[in-house]
Amino acid sequence: MTPLQHLLVAERVCARLGWDVAVRPTMCLGAIAPDAHRIAEHIDHRALHFRSRKTRDRRLIDFLRNYLRPAVNGPAGALEFWAGWLCHISADDIWRRNLQRDVPQLWDGIVHGTARQSDELRDKYLRECNQLDLAFFSLYQHTVAGLREELLAAEAHWTADPLTPQDLHTWRLTVVQSMLPPLAASDTGLEYLTMDFVEQCMFQSEQETFRILEWEIDESELSPIF
Ligand SMILES: [Zn+2]
Repeated sequence: MTPLQHLLVAERVCARLGWDVAVRPTMCLGAIAPDAHRIAEHIDHRALHFRSRKTRDRRLIDFLRNYLRPAVNGPAGALEFWAGWLCHISADDIWRRNLQRDVPQLWDGIVHGTARQSDELRDKYLRECNQLDLAFFSLYQHTVAGLREELLAAEAHWTADPLTPQDLHTWRLTVVQSMLPPLAASDTGLEYLTMDFVEQCMFQSEQETFRILEWEIDESELSPIF
């Protein structure tokens, strides 16, 4: 999922939780943070997506235990930042699962194709993602303009190893400058992805993140992971 789509998910989760818009800058920063490996090549993306555990249902445990749970009663802003981060890793998981299920020709070609097929498909996939971002940008222009300003105003107080606050700051500027709005590109046609596919992924991500947060905030002492 792209940073723009991650920000839209975070905005929806924030609204659904009934949180004040004043917390959105912090939540937005958390929602883009896990992809900062794209500008900081020393960072393995799996570390920031908490994908170290092999069993899928167990993957979030480290994140919930070490970051989200302590933030529930932590300093102001911490919960919102890690809630944004949770939006991101939930959405990426849903995105990956839905791609595998709904667009297997793309997924299988990238994962199992020859090096050349894989490269060509990956390139087509990235161009389609950008094209969809352009469509979402014009569809949600007002919302995205607000999220852009909030991202610029956000301050990096938290981070997860090995991401430094400086990396996060640089990544935030990269997102604002080159993805909000997305770079204009020639229309390559949508062969694999659709607006509906992305909307469905965003809706599922909102649902799942909201459900986890509701549980963690209200029922944390009953949580089975401790
Ligand atoms: Zn990601």
